[in-house]
Amino acid sequence: MRELITPLSQMLKNGEISSVELTNKYISAIEADNAKYNAYVSTTFDKALENAKIADEMIASGKATALTGIPMTLKDNICSDGDLTTCCSKILEGFRPYYDSTVWSKLKAQGAVMLGKTNMDEFAMGSTSETSCYGAPLNPRNVNHVTGGSSGGGASAVTASLAAYALGSDTGGSVRQPASFCGIVGLKPTYGAVSRYGLIAYGSSLDQIGVLANSVKDTALVFDTISGVDANDQTSVDYDFGCIADTLDNADVKGMRIGVAKEYFDGINDEIKNAIFDVIKFYEDNGAQIVDISLPVLKQALPVYYIIACAEASSNLGRYDGIRYGYRPENFNDVEEMILKTRTQGFGDEVKRRIMLGTYVLSSGYYDAYYKKACLLRQNLIADFDDIFGSCDILIAPTAPNTAFPLNFKGASPVEMYLSDIATVPINITGVPAISVPVKNDSNGLPIGMQIIGRKFGERTILNAAYFYEKNGNSQVEDFEGGVSL
Ligand code: GLN
Repeated sequence: MRELITPLSQMLKNGEISSVELTNKYISAIEADNAKYNAYVSTTFDKALENAKIADEMIASGKATALTGIPMTLKDNICSDGDLTTCCSKILEGFRPYYDSTVWSKLKAQGAVMLGKTNMDEFAMGSTSETSCYGAPLNPRNVNHVTGGSSGGGASAVTASLAAYALGSDTGGSVRQPASFCGIVGLKPTYGAVSRYGLIAYGSSLDQIGVLANSVKDTALVFDTISGVDANDQTSVDYDFGCIADTLDNADVKGMRIGVAKEYFDGINDEIKNAIFDVIKFYEDNGAQIVDISLPVLKQALPVYYIIACAEASSNLGRYDGIRYGYRPENFNDVEEMILKTRTQGFGDEVKRRIMLGTYVLSSGYYDAYYKKACLLRQNLIADFDDIFGSCDILIAPTAPNTAFPLNFKGASPVEMYLSDIATVPINITGVPAISVPVKNDSNGLPIGMQIIGRKFGERTILNAAYFYEKNGNSQVEDFEGGVSL
């Protein structure tokens, strides 16, 4: 995989290219290719060029850091002051927040250049990005296949070189699974490691902002910048990660204890299983110790996730009533009818399905049977993961049980779609970090992703293991040709 941010940053600092020139290259690439991939749903080119000018001044005055002047993108559910942020939902049509998310403020302070907002499943609910009100983004590896979801637009943009990196959100896999489907890197940090101020909420006990990038080093550089405690997000944690990117060159796996849970490979197709076992063998050959473990509770993760995520979504999405912002129908007789019509016409089918499921599991008479039980089972999962990380440093698993689906393949059956989240949701339920890295292509030429899972705040360990594989292993997913060329 190609490191992009460090070489670009060197070129900017050496004066081989200015940030304004680089930004213009990305703008031209988006103008040429976005119709092909539908990765961006809105662009902020004027602002990007203003930010690029500021970045050039920072570079000229010696104030540049790793991300200064580098063009990137935000998922359409991450707020930036005055820019369209719609969660790809009709109900937030035309919505422009009046404040910056903390992640964007931090990046902006480093001279980052934001090109626009990227496509996603409506309110981040889905695994293909097909529920977007703007239509699905397409997978640059094969445009007849989905990008995965819900951060599919960001994955598509990064893969096709229409942004150097992207921020997405991951509630149950939405950064890692599209990274896996598109053959790039995706990091879901520990719950609390990155501020969610300005991220439009889906499932508040699960949501986390993550990074999509071309390489592990790029991912680490972005994580180093966006992580940290924030007074505006009470769930953020004051943990000192130090600088991870700078230490990656010393990455080693000698003596590392790598857990392999057999349940993680149940029902996974042989091509994916074999690809990942080859990497496990690679780690073993390089001095890691493989620990066979059993995680029977894994089976419960999917129902636990869908009960908790829907319950939280039904509460979070209660605020969309047409009164203060977003879509409002033209004709209504009273407030009740206005709210009813707003929500009926504004939300798509999948969002409505989840609001109804969530309302049901929280309702009197069903709360104990569903929501409370799911919360108790969640505690078992957390305890089992804690136990495992007593005897292992990382866990290796597939990112998804399949590679990218053909377009319109899962639309007919929501449950089929939910089942494809089996490998990613346990990570959000337990709050630990995980990274997806590309391993090889399957026989249809579609990338297979591998997850490296760590203990809470174990980002350094998983990024090290991922980097060691990227540098010394045999990843066969080629860089995509196209987009910006330098
Ligand atoms: N596919 C999962 C869902 O639909 C995860 C989505 C996400 O991480 N935002 O809930």
